[in-house]
Amino acid sequence: MTVVQGHAASASPPVVSRDQFGRAIEYLRISITDRCNFRCRYCMPLEGLPWLPKADILSYEEIAAIVGQLAPLGLKRLRISGGEPTIRPQLASLVRMLRSIEGVEDISLSTNGVRLPAMADDLARAGLDRVNISADSLRADRVVEIARRDLDFDLVRSATAAEHAGLSPVKVNVVVMRGINDDEIEDFAALTRTHPWHVRFIELMPVGDLRELTWDHVLPSADVLERVRRLGPLVPDRGPARGNGPAAYWRLGDAPGTVGVITPMTHTYCETCNRVRLTADGRLRTCLFGDHEVPLRDVLRRGEPLTPHFLRALAEKPKEHALLQMQVGGLRALSQVGG
Ligand code: SAM
Repeated sequence: MTVVQGHAASASPPVVSRDQFGRAIEYLRISITDRCNFRCRYCMPLEGLPWLPKADILSYEEIAAIVGQLAPLGLKRLRISGGEPTIRPQLASLVRMLRSIEGVEDISLSTNGVRLPAMADDLARAGLDRVNISADSLRADRVVEIARRDLDFDLVRSATAAEHAGLSPVKVNVVVMRGINDDEIEDFAALTRTHPWHVRFIELMPVGDLRELTWDHVLPSADVLERVRRLGPLVPDRGPARGNGPAAYWRLGDAPGTVGVITPMTHTYCETCNRVRLTADGRLRTCLFGDHEVPLRDVLRRGEPLTPHFLRALAEKPKEHALLQMQVGGLRALSQVGG
């Protein structure tokens, strides 16, 4: 692990923190709640999970204080996630606090989109840059079947609200499940012909307590792309200009949007991993699918500096995760670790 000052001649040299394998760590995903208004079949049991007590959860001021100490170490891209972040009150006030922190270049939000039509303008005004909306169906009845809550979610309405608020680029994340929603792959891809949206198909991951979902429901992304090609030839594309993570992108002719695939089950991205995660109760996790974590909350509450703990976390960040070797179950649900 190293902290390196950048170009000596520039006025304020960028700082880069590297982990023990030399990967530059610049991206922090912040889970602000473990709760969710959906109960997606692949993510959360119908009865919910044992929720964190309120006193254990970081306040917005504490989250901002943590980011304020880590940004000077090179963390410049933030993603607010959960659980469902839009159900925590006053989300815009957190965005405003994060926006004012020097060194923060990009703030995005992962959301199920239910509350976006009501919140997008406020969030944009507070300084949010962009959103990723999770949507597993375009059909109202099927949304309810998968999310097991009827909250009148409509992807086109939510993505349009985000686009009109200037939250750009709009990315849409679809978890593909064989026999459950894979017949909608072409409908999702077709959206990119009429909207400047980036639809990314994600391989189902056997994490959490999936019960009725198994490896048989995992549809490899190569098969997804075969289905998309039924609409027309796919041209490899750079994808959205901002915030490209592990997705690979294509474009259908001269469509305004792109189609992407994220392939956690058939590939790993560990060698280019640039991220760490902060759980709602203030633990810094260095790998989504590993147990390694460094608690920050109590250090912060004692008024001690976080830097040594952050640097230790980077020194211990594992080389790769073991997801592909794991069987179904056993790992924590993504809602608990700010997936
Ligand atoms: N509630 C927010 C949302 O819906 O985007 C943020 C949290 S949610 C846990 C983050 C993402 O993880 C969503 O896109 C969700 O579909 C995805 N996810 C959760 N469990 C998954 C699984 N078992 N396999 C693949 N993706 C999963």
